[in-house]
Amino acid sequence: MADLDVAVVGAGFAGIYAVHAFRSAGLTVRAFEAGSGVGGTWFWNCYPGARCDVESKDHSYSFSPELEQDWSWSERYPAQPEVLRYLNHVADRFGLWPDIQLSTRVTAAAWDAARGEWTVTTDDGVSRTARFCVMATGCLSAHQVPSFPGLSSFRGPWHHTGQWPREGADFTGQRVGLVGTGSTGIQVAPEIAAVATHLYVFQRTANFAVPNRNAPVDQESDRNFKAGYREYRQRARESLLGVPVEGTGRPALAEPPAELQRTYRERWQAGGGLPLLGAYTDLLFDRAANDTIAAFIRDRIRETVADPAVAELLCPWTYPVGAKRLCQSDDYFAMFNRPNVTLVDVRSAPIVSVTPDGLRTAAGFYELDALVFATGFDAMTGALARIDIRGADGVPLTEKWAAGPRAYLGVANAGFPNMFLVTGPGSPSVLSNMVVSIEQHVEWIRDCIVYADGHGYSQVAATDEAEKAWGEHVIEVAYSTLFPLADSWYVGANIPGKVRVFSSYLAGVGSYRERCDAVAAAGYEGFTLSPVR
Ligand code: NAP
Repeated sequence: MADLDVAVVGAGFAGIYAVHAFRSAGLTVRAFEAGSGVGGTWFWNCYPGARCDVESKDHSYSFSPELEQDWSWSERYPAQPEVLRYLNHVADRFGLWPDIQLSTRVTAAAWDAARGEWTVTTDDGVSRTARFCVMATGCLSAHQVPSFPGLSSFRGPWHHTGQWPREGADFTGQRVGLVGTGSTGIQVAPEIAAVATHLYVFQRTANFAVPNRNAPVDQESDRNFKAGYREYRQRARESLLGVPVEGTGRPALAEPPAELQRTYRERWQAGGGLPLLGAYTDLLFDRAANDTIAAFIRDRIRETVADPAVAELLCPWTYPVGAKRLCQSDDYFAMFNRPNVTLVDVRSAPIVSVTPDGLRTAAGFYELDALVFATGFDAMTGALARIDIRGADGVPLTEKWAAGPRAYLGVANAGFPNMFLVTGPGSPSVLSNMVVSIEQHVEWIRDCIVYADGHGYSQVAATDEAEKAWGEHVIEVAYSTLFPLADSWYVGANIPGKVRVFSSYLAGVGSYRERCDAVAAAGYEGFTLSPVR
């Protein structure tokens, strides 16, 4: 008999809820977490300025109406320490700690066909068996440091934002180089600039960013909002992206120009990326429509940045707005008006090497005391690829995914029975409110296990045909949008040599949920369920 009903890998938002949900269904469960605390991405990304770009009322669990009412967020957009406090509170409140094993990295997971169970091996050298294995490893948890020649010779400290030192890093009085201007770089840069002698921002691709208009949450509006929280959550579940967004319901290209500008301005003033992207029905489908919002944002950059040459360099031109994650910051562009900040274009003159004293580009040398890499992640597949996962006949997952990741509904892999992925490739995942998607997946997986147990099935395995058809559907939907036009981590373009596959399902969390529910209602269509031998 297996040691556990379910082994869960990871204890971020997904793993924490998985422990609670599976345990509540009467299953024995253990989550293995590499970090010394829970939180996943919110544990590791403790760099200064780290903040969620989804509002706190959305980036929170909906499974417990009591939790939802009792917890009060202090800011519209929660900072990393507050999200971490929230997740620790959830683990306390639901008594999850006995089933979470911290500081334990899962190194391997192998399917034992004869016994019909997974053997999960951890870096303490111990192996446990489990009837089911649930990968709650996160979509953005394998950080990526570019292989610049000479990095190991650098005399000063260097940090990747995704592995930030827990004791913090003090840049007071230092010359700091920052590589990377995505969501993370844009958040950390103003914090460094506020204390450093000089900050050099090495930019390869300019990014669109919109204001957060972050603010404290006042108690009265919090009370009023919470009175309708259940209805709000339901709308979120049925929505496109897992956040209710009020659009105009009209295409931008049919809008009179003055009205278009008024709408963009209103939404820009109110803050947040989703209200802008959701303003018109064609913004993510029609390049000409998208150009209208792109032009609007470029105008705001020019309005904010005093030096016209710097402003032009900060203006993105190479991809549609939203096709890379739309960044959010209240102070990134204005930061370039500080005398101690220099923008360095490493598109025209790439980084050549790191020396003991700084960073060399094709055009010059920058003397530095510290280096910060906000260079992103091997997204979607990286965390799984770093575990030796072997399915039926010992086939490694990395081999199966050599031509790109595939998973039926983004939740199960053909050839890997009784293994489930939370927000895996082919599900809405990173192009949705992650917490909404995590809850939906965890509940669906729980129900599937309970169904199998209740009907005398010991094995649940996605079929090749179902997985293939789903993969084709995901691609077809993606290519009806503008998303594939960007060299983004959504397609794996940020990792040299990675196969380029669009791996998020873009038809919306509402219709995706309906599809998953229909699969379950049809007795897990697309899966083979095998009886206990
Ligand atoms: P990212 O979006 O992948 O950005 C990485 C940055 O590093 C890009 O500017 C990239 O330039 C640059 N870069 C990478 N390798 C480089 C090289 N060799 N030379 C020069 N530049 C290089 O990573 P991220 O900013 O960490 O964000 C990843 C995702 O995490 C986000 O899209 C978002 O989903 C999530 N996130 C969310 C929040 C939030 O909630 N507020 C905050 C942070 C992150 P290129 O663009 O030219 O490749």
